[in-house]
Amino acid sequence: MAELETFRNLIGGKYVDAASGATFETQNPYTGQPWATLPDSGPEDVDAAVAAARAALDGEWGATTGFARAAMLRRLGELVGENAEKLARQEVNDSGKLYREMIGQLNGLGGWYQYFAGLADKIEGRQIPSPNPNYLVYTRREPVGVVAAITPWNSPLLLMTWKLAPALAAGCTIVIKPSEHAPASTLGFATLIEQAGFPPGTVNVLTTNSRDTAAHLAGHPGVDKVAFTGSTATGRAVAKAAMDNINKVTLELGGKSPQVVFPDADLEAAANGVIAGVFAATGQTCMAGSRLIVHADVHDELVRLIGERADQIKLGDPNAEETEMGPVANAPQYEKVLGYLDAAKADGNTLAYGGAAESTLGGYFVRPTVITGVTPESTVFREEVFGPVLAALTFTDEDEAIKLANDTPYGLAGAVWTKDVHRAHRVAAKIRAGSVWINAYRVVAPSVPFGGFGKSGLGRENGVHAVDEYLEEKSVWVELTGGTRDPFTLG
Ligand code: NAD
Repeated sequence: MAELETFRNLIGGKYVDAASGATFETQNPYTGQPWATLPDSGPEDVDAAVAAARAALDGEWGATTGFARAAMLRRLGELVGENAEKLARQEVNDSGKLYREMIGQLNGLGGWYQYFAGLADKIEGRQIPSPNPNYLVYTRREPVGVVAAITPWNSPLLLMTWKLAPALAAGCTIVIKPSEHAPASTLGFATLIEQAGFPPGTVNVLTTNSRDTAAHLAGHPGVDKVAFTGSTATGRAVAKAAMDNINKVTLELGGKSPQVVFPDADLEAAANGVIAGVFAATGQTCMAGSRLIVHADVHDELVRLIGERADQIKLGDPNAEETEMGPVANAPQYEKVLGYLDAAKADGNTLAYGGAAESTLGGYFVRPTVITGVTPESTVFREEVFGPVLAALTFTDEDEAIKLANDTPYGLAGAVWTKDVHRAHRVAAKIRAGSVWINAYRVVAPSVPFGGFGKSGLGRENGVHAVDEYLEEKSVWVELTGGTRDPFTLG
């Protein structure tokens, strides 16, 4: 067996093992073999990382100007680009996602640092007219403080960057804890922090195999804000922990996003968009378009177009250029996806295409699956599968389509497929979700807000206002006359 790669935490500018010396291994889901060993940090390591972040905030980093922060962010963006291949391979080894998907993400990732660099030197307060002319009032926008960032396994560096770049632009310090299922690339990324010029302690990264240690970070009294991406169940626990400290929290959670297809849509384009939405990344994206809500007149044709293409999707080695779909990322997730296929059978749904594991390849492969005969009560219509599984059901008029699209506790994303410009905007306005694409799917950018309605989250990442999530606003009142006033009245 090949020797395992070794990674270390970054705490206070130093590359360190867990204080206990404990380690854990991360497995490559394609080979089924461990490939790297990482620190299995405990609460004492979290305490050290939070203390280092606090010291940086009170020290050199806290004194940097927005202009200096912008320069470091720009350099970090360049370094990510220069190291894209290495980082993408680490992500592939950890998660089994396609190299072609991850190298695309890594090549684009620098853009997030450049975008937020552009905001770092534009964090402005306001001068506010006071009803009492004796006062000059202005606001300052100050970093919220020490941020805890907790990320999932499906796109570790992209989802980390959505937190890190605005947090650094705002002047915060940060402690990052990636998922135990795909932890390596975040420690790989940590090696770029010093090169970009950030003072020690500004960015701290630690890994752990313990969810208790993760919870210790989320509820740490030394943390001022928690930024979380993951499942709704964990998000709820994280929000409660943050709330106990009266901390700010942003949550990017799960989804069950609808793809609404009207009969006048370009069905070839819609089929392609549905495939991009639910089979790309093996369906393991929060924004997976996993509910196909299609007009009854075009249901059979669209399902056939999607199903025939799904049957041709090339499963295999995530590193091979011709591969279109890799394995499910880890054993628990694989079992979960197969469990949903059983649930569909038990609910009387039809597994029209795929519908089973692909055992000939080894690894955790599931065939791209299209399920028909679904009702709004079906488990696969209601619950997030987080795998390559599409649930299709029909509608006959626009109101019914909107009702079905919104018949979910989630509200992360959705799409409308139609050539009718009036209907496209009308329906987009009525879908209760943070992102709606018209005749497209799965497009994101640093400049465009992303986040969820309902149980899909709290707050937004990306876009100019993402920085606000990492800032406090302070009002400063300046008495102008030098006189005194009645101490027993307000104002
Ligand atoms: P998860 O909720 O199991 O874990 C997410 C992170 O939380 C991991 O780092 C984990 O170690 C940590 N964690 C676990 N218990 C914790 C606790 N008690 N306190 C603090 N942290 C804790 O999610 P996952 O399985 O890694 O990721 C898949 C989920 O993430 C899916 O539901 C998916 O929809 C969601 N997701 C959402 C987005 C989005 O932007 N909305 C993006 C990607 C994934």
